[in-house]
Amino acid sequence: MLSRLGRFFVLSTSYIANYGYADGSGEYYVSIDSEKCNACGECIPACPMHIFQVEEDDYGDMAAVVKESHRKSLKYVCAPCKPTSGVRNLPCQKACKPGAIVHSW
Ligand code: SF4
Ligand code: SF4
Repeated sequence: MLSRLGRFFVLSTSYIANYGYADGSGEYYVSIDSEKCNACGECIPACPMHIFQVEEDDYGDMAAVVKESHRKSLKYVCAPCKPTSGVRNLPCQKACKPGAIVHSW
């Protein structure tokens, strides 16, 4: 069961926050599963581009989010971590022990 609530997709009991955009070349989203995210903050120093911060989400829970300033340029911001297309063993994902971070490209 999948429904949309603002920028969140509601999948069963999980709230998936999707940050990013689509353009003519593809879809560039970093998704954070708020049910898995425990707000540990490990993704913050792991990301060389400093795109994450932990703050209160729309549901009043502390969770990682992608900073507003990076949401419209993720294709380029993340390019050094993945010079060719395809989801790799990315620094952000390696740091996130609960596996809350997913990239769409
Ligand atoms: S792929 Fe690299 S730059 Fe992009 S969010 Fe992950 S660690 Fe940060
Ligand atoms: S490392 Fe994972 S669990 Fe920890 S704050 Fe970042 S997204 Fe959340």
